[in-house]
Amino acid sequence: MDGEGQRMDRVLSYLTLNTRQFHELTLRGRVILSQLPLSLTVLLIVVSGVLFHRDLLASGPFLVGVGLHAVLLALCVLVPWDRLPHATFLVIPLLDFIPIGFMRYGAGTVITGVGLLAVFPVIWLAASGLFPRAALAVGFLASLGIVWVPVFATDVEVNSQTLTQSFLLPFIMLAIGVTIRVMTASMMAQQEVVEEKDRALQLLLEESARRERLLETVVNSVDIGLIALDEAGRPILANRKLERFRALAGGTGDTAESDLRIFQQDGETVLPAARRPTRRAADGQVFSDYLLWWGDRPAQRVLSTSSRQMTNQAGTREGSVVTFNDVTELVTALNAKDEFVATVSHELRTPLTVIRGYLELLTGMPDLEPTVASGLEVVSRNSERLHKLVIDLLSAAEGPPEVTPVPTDFSELVSRHVATAEEGNGNPLVRFEDHTSPDLVALCDASRIGQVLDNLLSNAIKYSPGGGRVTVRATAVDGEVECSVTDEGSGMSPEELKGVFSKFFRTSGARNAAIPGVGLGLAISKAIVERHGGTITCRSVEGVGSTFTFRLPLAHISQDQQLQSQ
Ligand code: ADP
Repeated sequence: MDGEGQRMDRVLSYLTLNTRQFHELTLRGRVILSQLPLSLTVLLIVVSGVLFHRDLLASGPFLVGVGLHAVLLALCVLVPWDRLPHATFLVIPLLDFIPIGFMRYGAGTVITGVGLLAVFPVIWLAASGLFPRAALAVGFLASLGIVWVPVFATDVEVNSQTLTQSFLLPFIMLAIGVTIRVMTASMMAQQEVVEEKDRALQLLLEESARRERLLETVVNSVDIGLIALDEAGRPILANRKLERFRALAGGTGDTAESDLRIFQQDGETVLPAARRPTRRAADGQVFSDYLLWWGDRPAQRVLSTSSRQMTNQAGTREGSVVTFNDVTELVTALNAKDEFVATVSHELRTPLTVIRGYLELLTGMPDLEPTVASGLEVVSRNSERLHKLVIDLLSAAEGPPEVTPVPTDFSELVSRHVATAEEGNGNPLVRFEDHTSPDLVALCDASRIGQVLDNLLSNAIKYSPGGGRVTVRATAVDGEVECSVTDEGSGMSPEELKGVFSKFFRTSGARNAAIPGVGLGLAISKAIVERHGGTITCRSVEGVGSTFTFRLPLAHISQDQQLQSQ
C-alpha cells in the first residue's frame, strides 16, 4: 500500500513538473516527458475524430501529421539523448511544428484551433533556456509557417486577407514564448541562488564537522580534566582525563558530582556539595587555583580547579568551563620544602639563642680591647640578622599566625614604629614623613601589627638605596583604619608586583643588588593582616617607588575600656 502510494506521488510530481525531480531525470526521460503533453493532446484529437468526426480520419494531411508526430515520439524514446551533444534534443520541438502544420491543415474547419498545438514546442524551446533569442524567433517563424505554408503551397489565392486570416497565432506564440522565457530565466536565477546557498551550507557543515573533530582531539589530548556546562549547569562536553579523575573519586559515567569522594585541605573532611567546583561554576562563580583533595588515601590526588564563564555575542552568560589540573607533586614538594625549612630553622634557633646570650655577656664586659669590642659588635649585628631570619622562617613554616586583637591606640603604634625605623635608618639620603591622624583606635594585635609596620618601613629604606622620602599615612576610611607606607625607591614592574606577597619572592633587582632578605617579610605581613580580617595591597611603578597599604577594622570602645599601648 505504501509502495503504491509512493509511486502515485512520484507520478503526480512528474506530471506537475516538480522541478527538483524533473531535473533528477535522465535527459531521455526529460525529452519524453516534455513531448508527452503534445502527444496526449494529439491522442485526444484523434480519439475525438474516431468518435465524432469520422471525416477527419479521411483527411490525408491530418493522418500524415499524426504519423509524423508518432515518429517523433518514437525518436524521443529511442534516441540515446544522453550520449549526444546536450542541445541535440532541441531537434524534437523544432520538428514538432511540421506535424502540427499538417494536422492543422488536415483538420481544416472540422476541428478548429489545432494550430494552437504549436504552444507545446514553443514552451519547450523557451523553457529549455538554450539559445533564448533564437528559440523565440524560431517559435514565431515556425508558427507563421504553420499558417502561411498552406496558403502558398495550395491553390488558395494569396492575398492580404488569406495571409492575415490566422495572423494572431504566431504573435500569441511569441507572447507565450517571451513569458515562458522570462519565467524560466527568473526560475533559473532562483535555482542558482538556492544551489549556491546549498553549496555554502555544505561547506559550513564540513567546516563545523572539522572543527568538532579538532575540538575533540584537542580536548582529549590535553593533560587536564575539562568540563563545559550550559547555562543551566548541565554538562555539554567532558574529556577523558576528567573521567579518570572522577573514577579516582569513586565516580562512574553518570555519578553526580555531589556523590564523588572530594575532600578539603586535611584530606579527610568531605567537601560540602555547594562548594564543589562544577556546582560553583554552574552557580556562575569564577575561580582560579581552587585546591581540592580527590579520592581516598593513599591514591588521593590534589587537583587545582578553575572556572571561567562563557558568554554569547550579546554578552549574556551561556555556560561555563571548569578545568582540573593534577598538582599533587607540586603540593607534595611545597609541603616537603616547608617541613625542611621548619626543621632547619628549629635546629638553628637553639644554638643561636646560646650564641646571642654569650654575646650579650661578652659585650657587657668592662675594659674590652677596642678591636675586640668592634669585632663583637659585628658578630652581634650579624647574629641579630640571623635571628630575625630564623624567626621569619619559622613563622612562615608554622602557617597562619596566632593573633589576639584588642582595641589599640593605632596612631601611637604607628608613630612609635616610624620613630624606631628613623633611628635605625643607616641611609642618610632617606628621610621620613609621618602623616598619621591622631586618635585612631584599631582592633588589632599590637605586637603583630608592629611586625608588619617594621617590615614595610625597613623595606622602604632597603629598596631606596638612592634615598628619597618615606611617607607614612594613617587615617580612618569607611569604618576601617588605613595605613600606607610610600617610598621613592626602586619600585617594581607589573610582572614582579604580582608575586610580591608570595613566600620567598624577591625581585631580580633586589637579588642583583645583594640587598639582604629572603622574601618572607611580606608573605608574613599579609598573613598577619588577613588574620585580623584586614587587607593589604601594593601599588608600584618601576623606578618611581612603591606604596604598601593595609586596612584593619576600627575599634569602637567605651569610656571605661582600656586602650592597648606601650
Ligand atoms: P625581603 O625584603 O626580605 O626580600 P619581603 O617579603 O619583605 O622580603 O619582600 C619581598 C620582595 O619584594 C623583596 O625582595 C623586593 O624585591 C620586593 N619589595 C618589597 N618591598 C619593596 C619596596 N618597598 N620597593 C621595591 N621592592 C620591594
